[in-house]
Amino acid sequence: MEIAITGWLLKWVSLTYLISSFQLCHGTHSWCDLRIVSDANQFFIKTILEQHQLFGFFTEIITNPTSVDDDGRLRIVPYHDFKLSPHGCTLCPSHMCKGMILERIQAFSRQNGKNITIYIGDGGGDYCPSLKLGENDHVMPRKKFPLWERIHRNPSLVKATVHEWSNGEELETTLLHLITCSAIDGNQCVYTSTGSDTTSKVHSRPASTIKVCQSL
Ligand SMILES: [Zn+2]
Repeated sequence: MEIAITGWLLKWVSLTYLISSFQLCHGTHSWCDLRIVSDANQFFIKTILEQHQLFGFFTEIITNPTSVDDDGRLRIVPYHDFKLSPHGCTLCPSHMCKGMILERIQAFSRQNGKNITIYIGDGGGDYCPSLKLGENDHVMPRKKFPLWERIHRNPSLVKATVHEWSNGEELETTLLHLITCSAIDGNQCVYTSTGSDTTSKVHSRPASTIKVCQSL
């Protein structure tokens, strides 16, 4: 399993709620890789992770590189060089196509037997990778943020199961269930549809409605 997290969430969501999921990935379910895919920058991400002693949880941090010049100023270099090798994606900003990055991650993961991806995001730049996810994957957009709004405009375009969330507690509950369920004998966790909405994959899934994986 792969879990990809957009970098800004580390700032806006209480890390208390994410740490339990990180620990689970590195405990019983150590087969789960955590990656940050962020259009922030290396300095920002590294500072937050080190402040909270989280750096060791991540397999990879993919973001815009930074360096400090001779005058002590921070320099941020675009991940995709839009002059020398533009990525050509019309959905993404010129400096980073997260969809291309996700495709690279998934190709590597499949070679290592990891066939499920959970993508957690909130920004408009997270829409492109959400479209790259397959039917076995999960996307977790933050409710009423740009990613959630874009998915809601045409839910049929997204193949992955959508789990919206509004706060850190909901994020933690859903993520822990997804990690735990996907770990059981390599089977996909099957979620019950909690309402009459069978045409849209965009469901609200509060903790009480998630089918407990042990009962499958
Ligand atoms: Zn893109």
